[in-house]
Amino acid sequence: MAKLLVGNWKMYPTLADALVLAATIRRSLEELKGVEVVIAPPTAWLPMIIDSWHHRTGHIHFAAQNVYPDDQGAYTGEISAYLLRSMVDYAIVGHSERRRYQGEDNELVNRKVHSCLTWKIKPILCVGESKPMFDASHRLDSYQWSKVAEQLMEGLAGVKADDLGELVIAYEPVWAVGTKRPATAHYALEAIGRLKEKLHEKYPKKAIASARFIYGGSVEPGNAADFLKYAEIEGVLPGAVSVKARDFIEIAKIAAAI
Ligand code: PEP
Repeated sequence: MAKLLVGNWKMYPTLADALVLAATIRRSLEELKGVEVVIAPPTAWLPMIIDSWHHRTGHIHFAAQNVYPDDQGAYTGEISAYLLRSMVDYAIVGHSERRRYQGEDNELVNRKVHSCLTWKIKPILCVGESKPMFDASHRLDSYQWSKVAEQLMEGLAGVKADDLGELVIAYEPVWAVGTKRPATAHYALEAIGRLKEKLHEKYPKKAIASARFIYGGSVEPGNAADFLKYAEIEGVLPGAVSVKARDFIEIAKIAAAI
C-alpha cells in the first residue's frame, strides 16, 4: 500500500500563501505515484483552494485540522464533519495541540471519530505521551504508556472492527511535536507495536491490520526515510515543514520511492 503523507498546515499560512503552497504541491505531486498525499490547510481556506484547483486529483486529498462532533446547531465558531463532508476526505482529531490548548478529552475526541465515520471522513486519530515513555534501555514508563493506551482505547470506544480500515492512527509523541526533537524510528516502531497489541484486547488481527499507523513529531526531509523505510510505519505527519513547499515535496518523493 502507498505510504500516507499528511501535511498539517496548522494556523500558519495566510490565504495568499495557502493558495501558492497548494498550487505548488499540486503541480509538483499530481503525477507522483506511490504516495497518498493529504493536506490540512486552515479550514477557512479550504473552499478557495478547492475552487482554485478546478478539479480534484486522485491521490492528493484534503483534511480538516479538526471537526466539531455535532452535525449542526448553535455552536458559534465551530464547524462539523457534516458541514465539511463535501470538502475533505480526512480529518485530524485529537491533535495534541487541541488536547493541550482547548482541553479536549478522550470522550470528545471519540465523538469526533464517530462523527467523521458517519459522514465518510477518515479520522486521523492522534495519540501520544507527553514525556518519553521508553528510556535508552527500552524500559517502559508505565504511567506515560497508560495515557497513550487510554487515548487510543477511549478514542476508539464504540468503533466497530469493520470501521478500523477507515482509521489512521497517528502516533505523535507530544514531546516530539514542534520541538525539532523527533523520536527515533525504533522508538516509534516500539510504540506502534504496543498500540497494535493494545488493540488486540478488543479487535481481531485482520481489523487491526486494516487500520493505518503513521508517525508524527518533527518529521523533515532529513529523517523521513528513517521512519518510512519500515513497513510498520505506514506514513508520516509533518506539521511545521509541511508549509515549506520544497520540504513537503521532498518528503512526498521520499515516501513514493520507498
Ligand atoms: C503535527 O502538527 O502534528 C506535528 C507533528 O508537527 P511538527 O512536524 O512540527 O512536529
